[in-house]
Amino acid sequence: MSSQQIPPESFIDSTADAPDSVEDRHATDDEVHDCFIAALEHFKSNLTSTTKALAQQRWGFDAETVETLGIGFVRDDNSLVENLRDEGYSPATMLRTGLVTDGVVKHLYECDVDDCRHDFPAEIETVAQQRDAGSLDPAQIRFEDVLEYADEEDLLWLRNWWESRLIIPYRDAEGTYRYTIARKTGQSDDTDGKYIKQTFRKPWVDSSTIFEPLYGCHTVAADEPLVITEGITDAIAAHQHGIRAVSPATTQVKEEQLSKILQYATTAGDVFIANDTEVSDEGLKGALRTGADLYVNGVDAHIVELPVPDDRDEIDLAEFLKERDRDAFAEAATSGTPVIDHPRLEELTDVTPEALEESRESTAEDSLATAEDSESSSEGPAAVAVTGGGDDCEGAVPTAVQDEEKVDRYGSLIYELELADVCGVEPGYRGDNPIEHVGESHSNYFSVFREVDSDGETTLRAFDHKTRHGYNALTWLACASGARPTDKPGGQLNARETWEVWKFAKQEGLVPESDPVPARGIWHLCAENELCEPSRIPSSHDDGKVPPGAYNEALSLIARTYGLDPGRDRLSN
Ligand SMILES: [Zn+2]
Repeated sequence: MSSQQIPPESFIDSTADAPDSVEDRHATDDEVHDCFIAALEHFKSNLTSTTKALAQQRWGFDAETVETLGIGFVRDDNSLVENLRDEGYSPATMLRTGLVTDGVVKHLYECDVDDCRHDFPAEIETVAQQRDAGSLDPAQIRFEDVLEYADEEDLLWLRNWWESRLIIPYRDAEGTYRYTIARKTGQSDDTDGKYIKQTFRKPWVDSSTIFEPLYGCHTVAADEPLVITEGITDAIAAHQHGIRAVSPATTQVKEEQLSKILQYATTAGDVFIANDTEVSDEGLKGALRTGADLYVNGVDAHIVELPVPDDRDEIDLAEFLKERDRDAFAEAATSGTPVIDHPRLEELTDVTPEALEESRESTAEDSLATAEDSESSSEGPAAVAVTGGGDDCEGAVPTAVQDEEKVDRYGSLIYELELADVCGVEPGYRGDNPIEHVGESHSNYFSVFREVDSDGETTLRAFDHKTRHGYNALTWLACASGARPTDKPGGQLNARETWEVWKFAKQEGLVPESDPVPARGIWHLCAENELCEPSRIPSSHDDGKVPPGAYNEALSLIARTYGLDPGRDRLSN
């Protein structure tokens, strides 16, 4: 087949609108999961006696554990791709698993086309240029068709992401394999990172099949003790010893991982945090931070400090269990300290026990208050009246608000709203995203919780696990008003979105009737209704203001067309 025979339009689905959710990008595809499982089998078959010995010596994993957990090894050759090809999987399917990569997909979806070294035929180049220019939504690229063409034209060079690493698969709560992490071995020379997580955020990866569960979540059981470990290998060692354990694979637990931990910690029995014990106190600091986050959300965790042997200056749970046993861990866990009573809590986290108590109480109060609110208004955000004037709210600006938006604070209280004022569900909520149903339902994929910041302040957070996005009050309102899709809630509001958010907040009674329309809202109305020359409409506050006539017309429009008080005085011409 000659490349001239295929017009570039064949690779673009121009009739399709940008999808509403990640889920719509690709239908759940069993073929992708089969391919992923075939890859895991291949990694298992790559295990050599050397790698098995390494797992035994380094972390104490016995042969049974390695087998049961599906641990494997990725070689420094391209046997993964060759093997999957032999089994009949197409390049598109392999790429959908996120385990392999290729220059064509990178160029189509990611390259700055003027500044990369790829040299592809016009069919590919045209699509990449449109995507790079922003005139083509990546979701409109006909992935299977482009890949089939590229394969026939011999443009592909598929290869696996890693070399000479141990592959540790993750299962979801139902026990289905979903994800992998690659652990450096002595032979790895691909990159420096000790661990590399599988990619699943690329637009071509089938993210309904491949996603990152909390490691070990399939071992969690209601009302049974649960151990939160620092590393993946610590959790594996715990599992080998019959201990239920999860690992966020980091000491710095933040928003997304925290909401996942909460999901399991709230249903488990006693919760223990067993990080590394080391001279630097990093492990203890991380444990106390996570413990503080759990505490304000109603979970009492115990901090376990593993005793360091005399001849060493640090120890992690895997090492501890290699040398000792389950009973020794049980003893260390039993003598653990509740987070709230820990003598070094304030020193290492900057938060006092009193502040934690207070946040926890207000979480409980929010839950009660929201429960009462929801009886009168079961739909949409809770209509919480905002009291107080616009002048004395300095300092209450949410941290997520960008500088540009601060300038725009002509006084509109939309910038003062906090998530608790708008989201209509209480901390501790888990379930569907209340804004709208997003894709095929996984239960418990949306959660609202509190997080303790590094300065000791607590902030309400909302996280959607389906789309992997967090919300603040403004991005929540942008989605709730329909101005933004729930699969892309983040980022600063543009003029149109600012207008939609303000209008929505005003209509819902989230801001006072006299709340002033933000300048960006006025810019949007001027553009939308052609109230002045487009060149006179600012795109930032540095560009000055719209002409007075247009300004006044916009104010009239707000009152007349939308029945809202613009909250600003007209200018004299
Ligand atoms: Zn390129």
